[in-house]
Amino acid sequence: MIGAGGVATVAAFKIAQNADVFTDFMIASRRKAKCDKIVEAIHKAGYTMDIKTAQVDADDVEQLKALFSSYQPELVINLALPYQDLTIMDACLACGVNYLDTANYEPKDEAHFEYSWQWAYKDRFEQAGLTAILGCGFDPGVSGVYTAYAAKHHFDEMHYLDIVDCNAGDHHHAFATNFNPEINIREITQKGLYYKDGQWIETGPLEFHKPLTYPNIGPRESYLLHHEELESLVKNYPTIKQARFWMTFGEQYLKHLEVIQNIGMSRIDEIEYEAPLADGSGTAKVKIVPLQFLKAVLPNPQDLGENYEGETSIGCRIRGVKDGKEHTYYVYNNCKHQEAYKETGMQGVSYTTGVPAMIGAMMFLKGIWRKPGVWNVEDFDPDPFMEQLNKQGLPWHEVFDGDLEL
Ligand code: NDP
Repeated sequence: MIGAGGVATVAAFKIAQNADVFTDFMIASRRKAKCDKIVEAIHKAGYTMDIKTAQVDADDVEQLKALFSSYQPELVINLALPYQDLTIMDACLACGVNYLDTANYEPKDEAHFEYSWQWAYKDRFEQAGLTAILGCGFDPGVSGVYTAYAAKHHFDEMHYLDIVDCNAGDHHHAFATNFNPEINIREITQKGLYYKDGQWIETGPLEFHKPLTYPNIGPRESYLLHHEELESLVKNYPTIKQARFWMTFGEQYLKHLEVIQNIGMSRIDEIEYEAPLADGSGTAKVKIVPLQFLKAVLPNPQDLGENYEGETSIGCRIRGVKDGKEHTYYVYNNCKHQEAYKETGMQGVSYTTGVPAMIGAMMFLKGIWRKPGVWNVEDFDPDPFMEQLNKQGLPWHEVFDGDLEL
C-alpha cells in the first residue's frame, strides 16, 4: 500500500483484520515514520499481523521500481494522492504488479480530473496480463458497485442516476476538510458538470443546489458537483439519460470556502514570497503554492476523529424500467463517525473510503475481480463486493419505489 494518510490507515486496519486473505503486507509512503505509526496503532489494537514499512517518493518511477523489485508485491493499493497515479501505474507495468486506486489522475498544475489519462494504459496492462482497478473508494467506488448491482438485479434499463453524498457530521472546528484539503478544495471550487441526453452540461461552481432528505438525518442542502464516476457510469450504462452527483455542505463551510477563494488562498499556481530563513540569518525568495500553504495550517483530517459526531449517508438514487414498468431504487450506507473512530482512530470519511479499497484488493487477491486491462469497478461482478460491504463495516439498505425527490 502506498500512502499513510487517513484512508490508508483505515485500509491498513481492515487488511490486518483479514489476515486470511492478505498474507504479506507492506505500507510505503513519503515518510516512513507515518507508516510505522499506523503499524503501531494496529498492533496496539490487538492485531498481530507482521507489517513491513518503507520510505518511497511515489512521484519518482525509479524509486517505485526499486521498491517493487525488492518487495515483489502482487498488488499495489495506491492511497497516496491523485498526482501519483500515473507514476505508480508506470512502475507497476515495469515490474509486473497489479494496481488499485481510489481517485483518478489529476495533474498538479491543473485542477482537472478525468479518466482519459488512466484509460490510456488499458492496452499496456492487457498485454502485460495485469489488472488495474480504478476508483475503488466510496464515491467513486461503492457508488459504481451500487449502480452495477442495480443494473444486474433491479432494472432492464436505468434512465436517471443521482449519486447523493451527505456528511451530517460535526467535527467542532470552524473549518476543516474531511480528506486531503488540497484535493478537496480543488474538487469543490471547480465548475459543476452533469450528463443529460448524451451531453455534458457545465454549471457554475456550486450553482445548483436543493435540499435532499437523507435517511436518519433529514433534509440537507445538497450541491451539484462534477464527480469522476459519472464519466465511466454513463459510458458503461448507455441507457442512462441523466446522471448527476450531489454533495451536502453546511453554511459555515461554504462561508469559509468563499473567503478562502476571495483572498486567493485556493490558488494552485506558484507565487513568490520573501521568507525568513529558519536559522534567523536573513531572508530568501521562495515559491509557494497558496493552497499547499493553506493545507499546512488547516486541521489535519486524520485528527478530526476524536470529537466527530454524527454520520455520513451516501447512496445511489436510480429511476428506470423493469419488465416494462417504471421503478425507483435507492441504495445507501450510513456510517457513524464515532464508530469509525473507535475501530480505526479515523473519522467516517476516511473509513468509507478505506474499507472499499481493502474490499477491492480482497476481490483481486481472491481472483474474483481479476482480468487484464484497466477497469472501473462497475466492470466487475458487484455481488461478492456487496456481500463484503455488509461484513466489513459498511452495511447497505434499499428503498424500493420511494420518492427520489429528483
Ligand atoms: P492524505 O493526504 O491524508 O494521505 C495521502 C498520503 O499519501 C499521505 O500519507 C502522504 O504523505 C502520501 N503521499 C503524498 N505524496 C506522496 C508521494 N509523492 N510519495 C509517497 N507518498 C505520498 O489523504 P487521504 O488519506 O485523505 O486520501 C487518500 C486518497 O484517497 C486521495 O487520493 C483522495 O483523493 C482519495 N479519496 C477518495 C475518496 C473516494 O471515496 N473515492 C474519498 C476520500 C479520499 P505525508 O503523510 O507525508 O503527507
